[in-house]
Amino acid sequence: MKEIILCKYGEIVLKGLNRGTFEAMLVKELQKRLKGCGNFKVYHEQSTAYIEPLDDDADLDLAMERAGTVFGFVSLSRACVVEKNVEAIAAAAKEYLPQFLHGAKSFKAEAKRSDKRFPVKSPELQQLVGGAVLEVMPRLKVDVHNPQVVVRVEIREYGAYLHAGVVRGAGGIPTGSAGKALLLLSGGIDSPVAGYMMAKRGCVVESLHFESFPYTSEQAREKVMELAKEVTVYTGSMKVGVISLTKIQEELVKHCEEQYFTLLLRRFMMRLANRVAKRDGALALITGESLGQVASQTMQALHVTESVVDLPVFRPLIGMDKEEIISISRKIGTFDTSILPFEDCCTVFTPKHPKTRPDLEKVIEQEKKLDVQALEDEAFATLNYRWVSYYED
Ligand code: ATP
Ligand code: MG
Repeated sequence: MKEIILCKYGEIVLKGLNRGTFEAMLVKELQKRLKGCGNFKVYHEQSTAYIEPLDDDADLDLAMERAGTVFGFVSLSRACVVEKNVEAIAAAAKEYLPQFLHGAKSFKAEAKRSDKRFPVKSPELQQLVGGAVLEVMPRLKVDVHNPQVVVRVEIREYGAYLHAGVVRGAGGIPTGSAGKALLLLSGGIDSPVAGYMMAKRGCVVESLHFESFPYTSEQAREKVMELAKEVTVYTGSMKVGVISLTKIQEELVKHCEEQYFTLLLRRFMMRLANRVAKRDGALALITGESLGQVASQTMQALHVTESVVDLPVFRPLIGMDKEEIISISRKIGTFDTSILPFEDCCTVFTPKHPKTRPDLEKVIEQEKKLDVQALEDEAFATLNYRWVSYYED
């Protein structure tokens, strides 16, 4: 029997005039993700995107998995395509649906008639499908309140579809619908999660990583590239910039008070990120900061580090506990890489007693001991880009 995948829109259903643009983005994103899964036709109709295999080699299981990573869909279902007449629907219900009902004790049939020209109304369709299933599986019980499995028939423009059970989609809104943002990506647990969360809200995410070679290693950089690659399962391919902070860190150690090292370094990171973002057309910065998690993430510290940028700073984790962040990190598959033990530039020259309630004036006084502009320019000149992608392009 011919099967297809139905992907149902989430919030974009509400988007009125822009809807056409969003739909086109979803179809394009699906087409990209399905590369390597075989030949498919992808199109949209009535708040649903359709993934239709064009030959027997098309891998529908893999396509289902990939479609589950595309932001903008609330649910996915694998369905069989049936001719729009009652005999064909009843016959297909008997042949296709039992595989989903093995082991179940109860079920319920639902019908949705989007094509109002179809002469049979939803209640009769439900009976038709429910009755057909009971004919081949007579021990099943119908339970309309608490069924173990829900089977559905949908009558749409191009055909009728039978399926049993929906799986959750990736949620969110289509990648690209919000514009581009630059993620400050470290090798930790938080920043990959922050990138994922903003991609889910429609951002095209590019990343910027700061290293401090030889204080940080080649492996530490590769770990960050691996994390970026893992995030691209959801975001699509990603540009990752790398900037060296070695000189800045050495100057900080030479000229400034130890308790301010981290804050001063973070101000350089923010300045450089703001500059890279503007050059590359990103409209906001993203960090993995969470209020109170470490000394540099108190409100006073955030004020000190944010005051050197003029772009908005998105901190999707700001109100989350570490446990919550870890559970997302596990879900998206970055956790195991994040916990590999490599040093980060923030962990070299870490002050023993960092300022937790810094005063902006005092931080600026410390900065006067440095040639901030020259150091920033020198670091900016070390910017190097790589492209990473989990999927084949
Ligand atoms: P993470 O898991 O993101 O490393 P963390 O608790 O270690 O979290 P910090 O080291 O204080 O956090 O950094 C806060 C945020 O600053 C990070 O989430 C990230 O956005 C950014 N950041 C820190 N170090 C780097 C780095 N080496 N390169 C790029 N961004 C960084
Ligand atoms: Mg970190």
